[in-house]
Amino acid sequence: MKFFDFHHHHPENKFGIYNLKFGESVPNHFFSAGIHPDSISENIEEHFLWLQEISKEKNCVAIGECGLDGIIHVVEKLQESVFERQIEIANEVRKPLIIHCVKRFSQLMHFKKKANVPMIVHGFNKRKTIGDDLLQHDFFLSFGKSVLHNVNLQDFVKDFPLEKIFLETDSADFELRDLYEKVAELKNLDLEEFGLKITKNLRFLNIIAPNEEKLA
Ligand SMILES: [Zn+2]
Repeated sequence: MKFFDFHHHHPENKFGIYNLKFGESVPNHFFSAGIHPDSISENIEEHFLWLQEISKEKNCVAIGECGLDGIIHVVEKLQESVFERQIEIANEVRKPLIIHCVKRFSQLMHFKKKANVPMIVHGFNKRKTIGDDLLQHDFFLSFGKSVLHNVNLQDFVKDFPLEKIFLETDSADFELRDLYEKVAELKNLDLEEFGLKITKNLRFLNIIAPNEEKLA
């Protein structure tokens, strides 16, 4: 069984969505491309030209990671406009958005209205109240390593709808299988069944076609 890594930074991992770096050549496996708030710089227009083009690639299955970050030293208005422009690109190419959000969840809800494509908040490890709010606004959540040791987060995942879940390694180094096993156990499913649910979610986002080989 293979485990789909919804968001990661490991170029050698071919089974999942690799977060492409600016200027990196197009890989022959799935990737996402975006402008992280932390990499907003003076040559932002160059980044946008790159993103406009690369977002049309077949293997580019999502736009991101992009979003809002409340602890970095990049002016908020600038972060917001860069984020909004990426939402427009995602709307144009009809690909989902992988969201990076730090301490700006209430603003994020506002941006959700501008998107005609699904939004997936990656690396979710926050309080239940924030998670519930995101669910109510129809976000998907991708969970990472924290689920392995954070008991409150485990409780949250237990009740969180299966059809809104993805799993990821992000930049962390651990066995994704352990995370799949943990979440399957929380959901009272066997690993195979749980894998099929994730495949179904990937189909829903058009990341894999309805008739494509099953992933798990
Ligand atoms: Zn990441």
